[in-house]
Amino acid sequence: TLRRTKIAQLQPEDIFIAVKTTGRFHSSRLALLLDTWISRTKEHTYIFTDTKEEDYVLKGFNIVLTNCSPEHSHQALSCKMSAEYNTFMASDKKWLCHVDDDNYVNPRVLLSLLSAFPPDSDIYVGKPSLDRPIRAHELLSNNKTREVEFWFATGGAGFCLSRRLAHKMAPWASGPRFEQTSAVIRLPDDCTVGFIVERRLGIPMVHSPLFHSHLENLQLLSPSQIPLQVTLSYGLFENKMNSVVLRGTFSSEDDPSRFKTVHCLLYPLTNWCP
Ligand code: UDP
Ligand code: MN
Repeated sequence: TLRRTKIAQLQPEDIFIAVKTTGRFHSSRLALLLDTWISRTKEHTYIFTDTKEEDYVLKGFNIVLTNCSPEHSHQALSCKMSAEYNTFMASDKKWLCHVDDDNYVNPRVLLSLLSAFPPDSDIYVGKPSLDRPIRAHELLSNNKTREVEFWFATGGAGFCLSRRLAHKMAPWASGPRFEQTSAVIRLPDDCTVGFIVERRLGIPMVHSPLFHSHLENLQLLSPSQIPLQVTLSYGLFENKMNSVVLRGTFSSEDDPSRFKTVHCLLYPLTNWCP
């Protein structure tokens, strides 16, 4: 008889999706995500914030209250990234994906992207924010500095780390170490991830065009490409609203980010979709 070994396929709930937010963005940003893509990934999405919100807990969302200060400083943001890493490491999930609260995640595309990597490989995947590696000055113990170059994935576009790689990052990322490493290069949290993976571990980042932040011109994405992206974003770019361009029944006043329109295109049976 034919014997088949069943290969364990990656399941949606194997992906730990960490969303970084802050109290003052709960109603202006987070609520939109809870109504759209997070409604499809609720069980395996973890919202990292600095402000208690009983309502969300009652509705069954996973809220992780950090003790980080509600500021936009490098330190405060590294504190949240550190909380994401530590909470993921304590979980049984296979992938850690980080996104900001102005990102739309397409869960099906995310699953197919991650499924394509060999299981148990060392993967750091995202979109580089620059067209060349960043140059940083690493503080050495003798008070000298050394110039280092490495690629990093823009946090504002989202990125993912496999568990095997996340585990190898522990000497520079676990407990209080992530914030310490961030101080060594004096750069934000997303750069720190790149520094640890590329310079401390010598593992090259996987560059993907499927992640998007509002620091790129989102109007360049054609409507037919929009459903095929892992992440989208919206926000101000050079003082103007930057969002994907997609026609639908929601006006730009009702849906300035276009996230509702995208969501209804992907999940037309949603009860509030036209
Ligand atoms: N953020 C935060 N604390 C702050 C300010 C921002 O946790 O004091 C989070 C915010 O919720 C978002 C990310 O940091 O997930 C990036 O913030 P924002 O989009 O405002 O700034 P950008 O860097 O994109 O210009
Ligand atoms: Mn942003």
